[in-house]
Order: sequence, then structure tokens, then C-alpha cells
Amino acid sequence: MKRLFTLISALIFCLTISAQEIYIHAGKLVDTKNGKILNDQTIIISGNKIKSVQNGFLDPSSAEDSLIDLKNKTVLPGLTDMHVHLESETNPSKYMQRFTNNPADDALSSVGFAKKTLMAGFTTVRDLGGSGVNIALRDAINKGNINGPRIFTAGKSLATTGGHADPTNGMNNEMIGDPGPKEGVVNSVEDARKAVRQRYKNGADLIKITATGGVLSVAKSSSNPQFFDEEIEEIVKTAKDYGFHVAAHAHGDEGMQRAVKAGVTTIEHGTLMSEETMDLMKKNGAYLVPTITAGKEVTEKAQIENYYPELVVPKAKEIGPKIQNTFSKAYKRGVPIAFGTDAGVFKHGENGKEFWFMVEAGMPEMEAIQVATIVPAKILNMEKESGQIASGFYADIIAVDEDPTQNIKTLEDVKFVMKEGKVFKNE
Ligand SMILES: [Zn+2]
Repeated sequence: MKRLFTLISALIFCLTISAQEIYIHAGKLVDTKNGKILNDQTIIISGNKIKSVQNGFLDPSSAEDSLIDLKNKTVLPGLTDMHVHLESETNPSKYMQRFTNNPADDALSSVGFAKKTLMAGFTTVRDLGGSGVNIALRDAINKGNINGPRIFTAGKSLATTGGHADPTNGMNNEMIGDPGPKEGVVNSVEDARKAVRQRYKNGADLIKITATGGVLSVAKSSSNPQFFDEEIEEIVKTAKDYGFHVAAHAHGDEGMQRAVKAGVTTIEHGTLMSEETMDLMKKNGAYLVPTITAGKEVTEKAQIENYYPELVVPKAKEIGPKIQNTFSKAYKRGVPIAFGTDAGVFKHGENGKEFWFMVEAGMPEMEAIQVATIVPAKILNMEKESGQIASGFYADIIAVDEDPTQNIKTLEDVKFVMKEGKVFKNE
């Protein structure tokens, strides 16, 4: 009898503990699903999920519950940046660091970059390529050892020999070696298959390819096609076996079009996109991830002497200023858009700048918020868990001072950050 009593009281104790909830009083709440602003809402959080959202300001139901007052704030779901590089950040010594940094150096600095990203209101990111440190970073965040956003990572990007993500570009003959699929360099259908499977083995969540030349690699062309059709097709086909989607970096139109035809999910940058490619993207449901902030940054930094290597400067001056205009055209033509900045090419934590650049180029404020919430959730197969403040969704919640549909720049200064029910920032 005594044992039964102990058991019952233990059970009651557990129930009380698990019933502990967080109430948030939100003066305004962005309903991303319906594209509306709601007034005076209470969000009730249990564990890492949202239990319910109620009209009006409700008092906590028990003494165990806690209350967060955001009555004078606008509350939104945590934001998603679909294009970041958390292993590194722009600086004039960055090219030298390829020779001087050990993976441990990159790992330690990535801890700070991840934290800055989370504090800027980005509770989910897609890391589109590094050395592989980004995989360990994701795991450390998931374990709760360090603070950062939820990461979906490509591990190391795939390129062809001398292509944008060939890790030995610009090195001397002794160091240049002959990297292969293991290092992310692909030159045949066979290599393509192996490179994807290697990423799976390494623990990646998706595949990133560099379908054309790029700006910041030590190589001549910013935009030539760098994969054959059959190589990209093999990458996309193999990726499907592992539940991976494929993101393709592309500035030039030919390489971009090959990638879209092969079935990639997102085109990164899209700088020299033709109307034909825009229509093809609409037809295939491929998304453009604009990275306008990166375009602005490389244009600016190319003016500083010796900031970039000699080969990079003319590419930065040519490509950088075109990105925003292409985004504008693509958006107006109906190409699906997903928010992404290329943070790391500029300072981590400034991801929110992209919102104004999109609005300036013609996208309404509410839509700019939606492409950073519900749209990425769909691409990342988290439609029922992320991108909305609604029952059953992760308690990824942020708050800003002003209504972002009135002043989008308020998203550059996020005051409150909660990820999976845990408060990381409350100013
Ligand atoms: Zn990038």
C-alpha cells in the first residue's frame, strides 16, 4: 500500500512538472500562414513545442507556469536563412587562413558565428558548404553543448576540377594535388555518385554543387558552366536515394539552366538568369535564393585595395551589383523565392539586412517574411514544425520593436529569441 502511495505521488509530481508552461503575451503576432498581423495574443508553450495560441492576454493557469511580456513587441516565428557559411567570415586574411588554420581553429570560430546568427533571430539555417566542421557544429548545437540555430548542412560543396568549390584552387603545384569525390571534386558520372554517397557517410543533410564559376574562388571565370548535364543528373538522382535535396550555386545562365533541368531544388544567387531560365524555374518549382546582401558586400569590398586576391576583384565588381536587379526581375516574373543571404561572405548576425534589399526590389514586406519562414520550412520538410506560430510547431519565436510590415528594417534588430522553448535573448 505504501509503495502504491509512493508511486501515485511520484506520478502526480511528474504530471505537475510536465504541465509547467510558458505564456507569452504578444502585442502583435505575425500570422505567416495567412499573411496577417494579429493583435493581443497569448502563446502557450509546453516543452519545445507550441501548445496553443489564444486570443487576448490569458493568465498562466498554475503557479509553476511563467509569463513573458511582449505586449509592446511584434512577435514572429524564428527566421530561416537558406544560405550561410558558418565556418568562416570575411576578412582580408581569409585566403591566407586556408594555409594557416587547422579545422580546430575553424571549429572554435564557428561557435561564435552560430551564436551571432541565433541572436539575430535566425533559428534555422542551411549551411551551404565548408570543410565539414559544419557537421560537427550542427551536432554540438543539437546536443545543447553550444548555442546556435538548427542547422541543415551540405558539409563540403561539390565542384569540378578548378571549379568554384575545388578546395585547392590558386595553390602552388606542390599543394594543388588532385582532389576527388571524397574532397568534393567530381569529373564523371561515377564521381558524382560517389561524392554524394560520401557526403551521406560524412553526415550531411543535403547536397550543394557549384554549377558555375563563382566570385570569391581564386579562378578566372565567375559564371562559366562547370558540370555536364549527366553529372548533375547523377548527383540529383543519387541525392534522392538519401532524402537529400540539391542546392546549386550559379551566376551564369547556361550552368544554371543545366542545374534546373536536372532537378535541383534551389538556385543560389542566380545573377545572370535569363527569362527562359526564370520560366523553367517556375515550371519545375525551383526556388531562387537571392543572397543580395552578399552581392552588395563584395561590390563594396572590391574597392578596398588588397582585400581580395587579384583574380577576384574584377569578378566581384561585375557580379556583385547585378544580384538585386535579377532578384527583382525573377520575383516579378513569378519565380519562387526562398530567403538566403550567404552570411560569412559578410558578417554573421547581419542576415536581417536582406529583408530591406528584397523589399527595396519590389517584394511586399509580408511576403519577405513568408519566404524566410513558411517557404524554407516546406523546402526543409518541416512544414508542420517550423515557420509558423501555431499549435504543434516548434517554439521558435522572436520579437522586434516595430511591426515589420510597416518597417521591415526592424528585423535587423531582434530583441527576443526563443528556440525550442528556451529563451536565448530577452532585451
Ligand atoms: Zn555561398
